[in-house]
Amino acid sequence: MFVHHCSACDRRQLIFPSQIKGTAELAGEPGLAFTCWCGSEQVWLLGRKISAAAAA
Ligand SMILES: [Zn+2]
Repeated sequence: MFVHHCSACDRRQLIFPSQIKGTAELAGEPGLAFTCWCGSEQVWLLGRKISAAAAA
């Protein structure tokens, strides 16, 4: 789970794994594609958040 600020509904929402649809890329950055509670398609950029985990 993570908190994401949705660009569509302009709210901070808690996103559950069941909402994640897969991986995505935005501006060359890796991210997770998911559907917000409001129904908007969003991308959560992983960036350096997982780089340490991915290297392990
Ligand atoms: Zn939303």
